[in-house]
Amino acid sequence: MLPNINTSKILQLRGQRAPVDPSSAPAIVTEIEEDSNGVPKQATTVFLIGKECPFRCLMCDLWKNTVSTPPPPGSLVSQVEAILPQITHREIIKLYNASNFFDPQAVPPAERTELGRLVKDFELVVVENHPNLVSGTVVDFAAKLEGRLQVAMGLETADATILAWLNKQMSIADYEFACGFLLEHQISVRTFLLLPAPGVEAEKMVEHTLASVHRALQCGSEVTSLIPLRAGNGVMDWLVEQGHVRLPDLNVVVETFRAALQIPRHKDQRVFLDLWNLDTLAAEDVDAASVCILLERWNLNQALDC
Ligand code: SF4
Repeated sequence: MLPNINTSKILQLRGQRAPVDPSSAPAIVTEIEEDSNGVPKQATTVFLIGKECPFRCLMCDLWKNTVSTPPPPGSLVSQVEAILPQITHREIIKLYNASNFFDPQAVPPAERTELGRLVKDFELVVVENHPNLVSGTVVDFAAKLEGRLQVAMGLETADATILAWLNKQMSIADYEFACGFLLEHQISVRTFLLLPAPGVEAEKMVEHTLASVHRALQCGSEVTSLIPLRAGNGVMDWLVEQGHVRLPDLNVVVETFRAALQIPRHKDQRVFLDLWNLDTLAAEDVDAASVCILLERWNLNQALDC
């Protein structure tokens, strides 16, 4: 039985934010990611510093690197202008603002237009957005880019009961509707799924996550990214301590990703494993460094036998 968790409890258990400064240049990470034609591309993620997301999802820790009040006008544009000279390719750019790109409180419309102008010559521009904030504004933004737009949305899990418990304030039908709308306008979908969703019993972690991958692929998600569940935001640590949530270990992550890559999918659909926090997933009798190399290869090749 999952305990009752609401926004007040999530906020009450939070720790401190990181001392981030919206007037400084943002951090970036560049990785190699296979595109929809199977070609390896450089993909740079820009971690924009902006206002905290108004949703309060139970598992979210992105608020740590945000500010609680609106940052100075134009600061998002200044951040991208400051970092662009360091990004020498024009392949994939991800503008991740730890919130919703099409929420005018997070990215004011005039700034959004300017951000689009700055990145319009990339082959693919990826932004994050809640499914319930998908509208014609997204289509207008996509029309001004020379390359393609991809909207990254957190489905998190295809289990309706757990999704409701996550305080995400959306349903699976909301995600499906958003996917349909975006695809109808030739806008690609990237889906974030938790591996596993909080509250899933240890013996069901693999099966549960695979069911969510199936659902995302059926909805036409071009990229489905598995995010290993982590604690560290306050409420997740409390849930782990109380025995309501089990975190995955490296063995579960490997088994799930191995099975996910074997799910039949359209040739332009890819399933990735997020490797950013993998070093925290200790498992007995596992050489974490070799496993990371293996998982990187699976990510890049989208197959197990290369
Ligand atoms: S919608 Fe995304 S950014 Fe906002 S609280 Fe939920 S997980 Fe975090």
